[in-house]
Amino acid sequence: MTAANRVTLAPGLYFIATPIGTARDITLRALDILASADILAAEDTRSLRKLMDIHAIALEGRPLLAYHDHNGKVQRPRILNALEAGKSVVYASEAGTPLIADPGYQLARAVTEAGYSVTAAPGPSAVLAALTLSGLPTDSFFFAGFAPTASGQRKKFLQSLSAVPGTLVFYESPKRVHKMLDDLVSVYGTSRQAAVARELTKKFEEVLRGPLGDLQRELEGRPLKGEIVVLVDRGAKAEWDDEAVRALLSEAFQGGSVKDAVAQVVAQTNLPRRQVYQLALSMEKEK
Ligand code: SAM
Repeated sequence: MTAANRVTLAPGLYFIATPIGTARDITLRALDILASADILAAEDTRSLRKLMDIHAIALEGRPLLAYHDHNGKVQRPRILNALEAGKSVVYASEAGTPLIADPGYQLARAVTEAGYSVTAAPGPSAVLAALTLSGLPTDSFFFAGFAPTASGQRKKFLQSLSAVPGTLVFYESPKRVHKMLDDLVSVYGTSRQAAVARELTKKFEEVLRGPLGDLQRELEGRPLKGEIVVLVDRGAKAEWDDEAVRALLSEAFQGGSVKDAVAQVVAQTNLPRRQVYQLALSMEKEK
């Protein structure tokens, strides 16, 4: 028995979300679309075949195309031609929601620009699962994707996000998560609340919560496996008086120029840059 129904799909492109771990985390509508589309396209055709096998959906001779970042230029015209011919096309990324740190954006643009219909069958995404479990505020959040891999660039990237008035959500690889935590501490300080969510919806699901400094210490020397989301609370504005900011600035001055010190302290405190810069200038004058 299969949960999927053959339905009549209108011509157009259908983005479906697929599980991020547990195979049963797929919607009935996504299964219906998989069972019914004229053409299937996937970031990873083998993963999609496996998912279809689990849910007893047969390919039945329908074309299954690979569409990913490296062949998009070649495959987009094929998909557009199929839409022009009145076909329905389903697209799935390897796991989770297409376009979310995954291919699909260029395809969505090309299809809407050409005037064809695009529909989403929403479902799992690691961003939302991690936010749900993080214990951090969800009223407002910023999905930052993967941070740059080089530490210097990563710190600059983190500084650029310091004033975001919402929870920051990063995807991270297990190889780099410790370095990421080091840089988060050096840019935002030890006290911001944070969470590390690992292997969501899978057997070894784990969520660690606490101030950044505690998480850094707790995970030091402990290799982490699997897929990871790192989340950081927004900075609090009220707790910084001039004396506290001066103390941070004099520490930051040791590392380099006034400009860098100001950028670092703005990132740590979330205070307006002008205010921190004025204090830095007055400290320079006092020297
Ligand atoms: N499109 C996917 C989505 O909607 O979540 C994300 C794809 S991105 C290439 C893969 C990254 O998502 C992983 O490196 C990890 O950071 C995060 N991720 C995916 N599945 C996860 C899971 N089960 N638990 C924790 N993080 C996960």
